[in-house]
Amino acid sequence: MTATETASKCTLPDCDTASTLHLCEEHRLELADLLDNVDFLIVNLDPNIQAGKVTKKAGGQEGGNGTKSAGSRPPTTDTGQLRYLLWELPKNAYKEARDNPNAGQTLHMARIWVGNARNAVYGPEVEEVDHEANQKRVKEEAPPLPTRQLVKFLRKNARISVKSKDINNWAQRGKLAPVTRDPLPTYWPHEVIELHTQRIKA
Ligand SMILES: [Zn+2]
Repeated sequence: MTATETASKCTLPDCDTASTLHLCEEHRLELADLLDNVDFLIVNLDPNIQAGKVTKKAGGQEGGNGTKSAGSRPPTTDTGQLRYLLWELPKNAYKEARDNPNAGQTLHMARIWVGNARNAVYGPEVEEVDHEANQKRVKEEAPPLPTRQLVKFLRKNARISVKSKDINNWAQRGKLAPVTRDPLPTYWPHEVIELHTQRIKA
């Protein structure tokens, strides 16, 4: 490797996008998005919800049919190890894309680790999400946000999908009061989650 050598394409396998950095813009933004969530996940990775703890059946026999149940279980990485792996991720996606010739590998691992951590914190995506717990957590962590950021935030941090239209509707019908109005109305994320939850139950 020489000092003048520069990346010419994205290093993520299956992505051939030309790029002067080691990650193309799309994948650099994806990495940034994943890294954004890391501190929150580290704080919220509770050792008590370690995967596997609750799945053991009385009688001591595990699974019964070999590997049959593996797919329906939470990830088996323990939360301590996961925390450590998350700590090891770079903090800055741009620097990583600029400096690490294997930045594609970093993104690949970040997808897995952040995904596992999200599963450990929020529960696996395919299963019932504990909205009540998420709502409590979000209430303690999240500031009021304008609609578009709020939609993105809730998708990422509470695993719920609410549309801007819904939020505007609730606001218009007086179900949701803005926290601030200028320059854009902002709303409490936990209040939006509550309205969303009521709608599901209705
Ligand atoms: Zn790429």
